[in-house]
Amino acid sequence: MDERNHGKLSQGLERLSKAHVDPEELLDPDTVPIKNRGGEWIMPDCPSCTERCCLHPEPDSGILLSLQDVAHLVDSGHADLIVGTYTFKRNKRGKILDEIDEMPRLAKQDNGDCHFYESTTGRCHGYGVRPTICRRFPYEVSYKKKSGKAFTRFIGWSQCPTLENGEEHQESIRQMARDAVVDENVSFEDAVLLGEHVEALRQAGFGAYLPPPSECPAVPEPVATDAE
Ligand code: SF4
Ligand code: SF4
Repeated sequence: MDERNHGKLSQGLERLSKAHVDPEELLDPDTVPIKNRGGEWIMPDCPSCTERCCLHPEPDSGILLSLQDVAHLVDSGHADLIVGTYTFKRNKRGKILDEIDEMPRLAKQDNGDCHFYESTTGRCHGYGVRPTICRRFPYEVSYKKKSGKAFTRFIGWSQCPTLENGEEHQESIRQMARDAVVDENVSFEDAVLLGEHVEALRQAGFGAYLPPPSECPAVPEPVATDAE
């Protein structure tokens, strides 16, 4: 179920992405194969889970939001659930780098549970607008050591109990794997747009989620051509 609105901010982001991100660098969610050990279909057993990924008791933990998540939350009327801004790393001399340091997070309840987590039912009541990372977890993209080819897999370190009869859930597993690829692409797009086009993002309406220009990476000077 996808109830995320694709409104003004999402459309602005899409335009920037088309202008600045090379599509050749993005993975195709429909062709990246799923490769679990032994060829197994591994499905998390969320109803019987006690280590729920929706609980974040540590103050610095929580669901990190991509630019696309921010845009969808704003467009879906949930701007109030976006906490914090993107920030950039600095080198030892204090120069601002084009690498993302902090990211905005999804709001939490006082006890650390995700804002959307309903403890009495153990369910997400924002399921239709949940961020991409929630859609793909516990699947991720990995790369083969020799060829560098991408594949998706169940995350080995996850605390998830799993269902015995995973094969019956092939369609849900395929969707999580596709969302893992989407999440990988979104991370790449964020690195390009935040690292190299932060002022264009500000103009597109992301200003509330960005630091002031003095704390953003310098925009590279356009390269002069012979004709100029
Ligand atoms: S995805 Fe894993 S950790 Fe999260 S609720 Fe389901 S089983 Fe638990
Ligand atoms: S948005 Fe939903 S799935 Fe994601 S952490 Fe919150 S409650 Fe869990």
